[in-house]
Amino acid sequence: MAERFEAAADHLGLDPGVRDVLRTPDRELTVAIPISMDDGSLRVFKGYRVQHNFLRGPCKGGIRFAPDVHLDEVRALAAWMTWKCSVVGIPFGGAKGGVVCNPRELSISELERITRRYTTSIMDILGPDRDVPAPDMNTNEQTMAWIMDTYSMHHRRTSTAVVTGKPLNLGGSRGRPEATGRGVMISCREALKTLGMRPEDTSVVVQGSGNVGGIGALLLHREGYKVLSLSDIYGSIYNEDGLDIPAVLAWIQKHRRLDGYEEAEHLPNEGQLEIECDVLVPAATENQITSENVDRIKARVIVEGANGPTTAAADKVLEDRGVVVVPDILANAGGVTVSYFEWVQDRMGYFWTEEIVNSRLEQTMVNSFEEVHTTAKKYDVSLRSAAYILAIDRVVSVYRMRGIFA
Ligand code: NAD
Repeated sequence: MAERFEAAADHLGLDPGVRDVLRTPDRELTVAIPISMDDGSLRVFKGYRVQHNFLRGPCKGGIRFAPDVHLDEVRALAAWMTWKCSVVGIPFGGAKGGVVCNPRELSISELERITRRYTTSIMDILGPDRDVPAPDMNTNEQTMAWIMDTYSMHHRRTSTAVVTGKPLNLGGSRGRPEATGRGVMISCREALKTLGMRPEDTSVVVQGSGNVGGIGALLLHREGYKVLSLSDIYGSIYNEDGLDIPAVLAWIQKHRRLDGYEEAEHLPNEGQLEIECDVLVPAATENQITSENVDRIKARVIVEGANGPTTAAADKVLEDRGVVVVPDILANAGGVTVSYFEWVQDRMGYFWTEEIVNSRLEQTMVNSFEEVHTTAKKYDVSLRSAAYILAIDRVVSVYRMRGIFA
């Protein structure tokens, strides 16, 4: 991501001082989380919260629980959130948090104690006007409910707007679970429009079948695209006439994996991204399109549902070949957009129907795609470079207006 930032900064002609301001996280907090374990022993976990930039509004970004989380990763992801919020024009800066732990080895009550102690330790920098966390890897709506409750108990009032991704009955938003997949579908549709391609003539391969891939595939299928292949961590399925996506998702719901689904050919994951198709949607994990496999990828359009699915080296090859890549910071920003809607609804104390959420999301994604596309034409660059140029330029213009408080 650093090189993408520098390339966009070059296009904008930013001077070294401004680059330094934007590269440097505003605040980094490392905390110790001592916990009494269920067996009576005492363990100390480590937690991080990095706030990259809050020039455009409170910081926003997920909290992940994983054994290998480290400060450099959290720092990079926090900056990524700044650009993602900026590219879709929502009034947030970027942040990210992490706790070094293995959730698989922890009981629910240990997880609850870790979450509450971590929240208490970073409480001074949290708040609806300061920093609003969300779920990320291995955290979910239960984690958010604990954070919200801990924050609220300390502040002596129920403060739902301190986190997003909450359960519906605790201030969550309708449409949030589908929002990232919906944004992927909208970005795909808008990209195809620019190429004069119609959904009914377009075949799609989706990597992953979770929240982003599964829902993205379902919404693409409903729009008339022929979804040829889906995968999970164990393998992929393929049907040259197009998969019956509702039936596949019902199978996953029941069996937790694609294995055993009958109306398709079963293939190993190696090679799934290389299937002949018009659109490829990597929606599983990072670093999937690399210099090793990029030459065998046949899609004309790639819509990045996952964060960072394409390495910088592969990106260059795709760009040279004229493959249209809708970059992650735009394509998967539907989730953070509806998180913003959740925060707005919590602050108003007035909750929208799913139709309203979806139509505002649609508006945001369509406008953002259009702005990125126009920027790409203006600078004669890829959609990815354009997304960074647009995002960075918005932050810089706010920085110039606000000036430096000293
Ligand atoms: P998820 O856990 O719901 O689903 C991930 C899916 O990918 C599962 O089907 C899993 O089996 C599959 N998978 C994992 N590794 C794979 C591999 N190597 N090959 C094939 N399949 C594999 O996760 P998600 O929420 O759908 O997130 C997917 C990606 O999208 C991540 O990069 C995440 O950071 C990003 N993202 C998610 C959201 C969101 O709102 N959920 C928002 C923005 C970005």
